This record gives sequence, structure tokens and C-alpha cells, in this order.
Amino acid sequence: MQRQAGGKKEVNKKDQKIRTFLQDEKEQLNIKIDQLGLDTQSGDARREGSPFGKREEEATENMEFEKRLALEKQLKEQLAEVEHALLKIENGTYGICDVCGKPIGDKRIEALPAASLCIDCKAKNAKK
Ligand SMILES: [Zn+2]
Repeated sequence: MQRQAGGKKEVNKKDQKIRTFLQDEKEQLNIKIDQLGLDTQSGDARREGSPFGKREEEATENMEFEKRLALEKQLKEQLAEVEHALLKIENGTYGICDVCGKPIGDKRIEALPAASLCIDCKAKNAKK
């Protein structure tokens, strides 16, 4: 308990809290993505075994499938952001904009702990 000094690069308390939060977030996202994968499999099995109401079922399944794809994409993007933020903590660049190198700002970080761009660069990025 007394070995606070020395050893690895020091991570301040605030960063440590964020790191715990992000690691948790990462786990949750991985679980969600895993669950989506499982759903796809059970969907295939169900289709094979049901000769009735096929058309209707296919329509809903297609919709479900598209929703799932969109969701999966969203989750994977979130996961990539979270992983990137974790990396930034390790490198000591957390809270600094990837593009312009200025601080992202406490308020923005609080609202979006995985943010890696300041609000200006994010806006420019979105316009592309
Ligand atoms: Zn910036």
C-alpha cells in the first residue's frame, strides 16, 4: 500500500478514475458485440426450422439484421474510441486533441470520456 512513488509512469487519480471507467465501458461494449454475434447465429437456426410464414418472417429478420448491423457498427466505433482513449491515458496524452494538440476541455471530457478531438476539430471532421 505504500508503494505509490516509483515504478511505472505515474497516472494521476483523475486519469485512473477515467481509466477504470473506460475499461468498464470497453468490457460492456465487448459483451454487447458478442451478444449481437450470438443473435445472428440463433436467427439462422430459427429460419431453417420454420416452414410457415416465411415471407413475413424474412421481412422482420431483414429489418432486424439491418438494425443489428447498424448497432454493431456503432458499438465497434465506440469500442475503437474507448480503446484509443485508453491508449492516450497510457501515453500521457489523454485530454489532448489528436489533431491540434490543444486541451479538449474538462466539460467535454466529462460528457464524453472517450473523446479524442476537441470540439472544433470534431466539427471540422464531421463536415467532411
Ligand atoms: Zn483540436
